[in-house]
Amino acid sequence: MTPDLMDQGAQRAEVHKTAQSGQTMSGGRDAGFARRITSNDVDVTHGRILYLEDVCVSFDGFKAINKLSLDIAPGELRCIIGPNGAGKTTMMDIITGKTKPDSGTVFFGSTIDLLRYKEPDIAQMGIGRKFQKPTVFEQLTVFENLELTLNANKSVAHSLLFKLDSAQSDRLADMLHTIHLADSVGRTAGKLSHGQKQWLEIGMLLMQEPKLLLLDEPVAGMTDEETERTAELFLSLKGKHSLMVVEHDMSFIRAISDIVTVLCDGAVLAQGTLDQVQSDERVIEVYLGR
Ligand code: ADP
Ligand code: MG
Repeated sequence: MTPDLMDQGAQRAEVHKTAQSGQTMSGGRDAGFARRITSNDVDVTHGRILYLEDVCVSFDGFKAINKLSLDIAPGELRCIIGPNGAGKTTMMDIITGKTKPDSGTVFFGSTIDLLRYKEPDIAQMGIGRKFQKPTVFEQLTVFENLELTLNANKSVAHSLLFKLDSAQSDRLADMLHTIHLADSVGRTAGKLSHGQKQWLEIGMLLMQEPKLLLLDEPVAGMTDEETERTAELFLSLKGKHSLMVVEHDMSFIRAISDIVTVLCDGAVLAQGTLDQVQSDERVIEVYLGR
């Protein structure tokens, strides 16, 4: 694999500044004076990678999250469904530190109280997040986008001199296959299809080896074929990463799900296999029967 790495020094420097400011990628920020928590500190011996209990948050008196309790096992792929406005995105905002709840408990593993940390620190400790819209560096190639994730913590000067060692090259090559982009390695990201951009961003997140990855409507806007390939991708991640996937696409959920949690009015309405929740009268009334 010898991708065409043209001299894009200035552009790369700019991109690194963005990466280091923490706007688009995790990492790169100093967690402050306390010892930095890393994903090695996450204690899952109690069988939970994520634990929420009685979480509440109001916006101008409106209870967007209302006594939400939920937990996720290590290696689990949990699907979250529910009507618009149910609080799915707000729940992800709370887990990632973007929104602080008014009350409740949010733990990463059994020892890390996430409510004590800011958003960049939470990203740093191994919680990755994929927002709905793809956010890749459009002017850079697929290879360069992935390469950036390997050195986002280093200084700009270091990054410009940065060379991949063989272990990193192997990881990058593996990732290109995992995300179905091995044939597009030298393509400019801006020229990829919507689905391919989503895969690239998922690959960029996975390169950072998150313990927990949150994905908000990852197949929205994808073609049927792209959706099927995304299902294959997610199935291949099961067991290696813990995933929380919010989606409306029921055929996609059917393809990937074990346990499905239905959110409604900021709390868990039902939970079980897709067949179980789909035959639940309350779920049919608020969501499926629309
Ligand atoms: P979902 O992702 O399930 O569609 P959201 O979490 O986006 O739902 O929104 C839940 C509710 O909280 C909605 O009524 C939404 O308008 C409201 N909400 C979310 N974020 C904010 C905010 N920052 N300020 C005010 N209201 C908000
Ligand atoms: Mg949402």
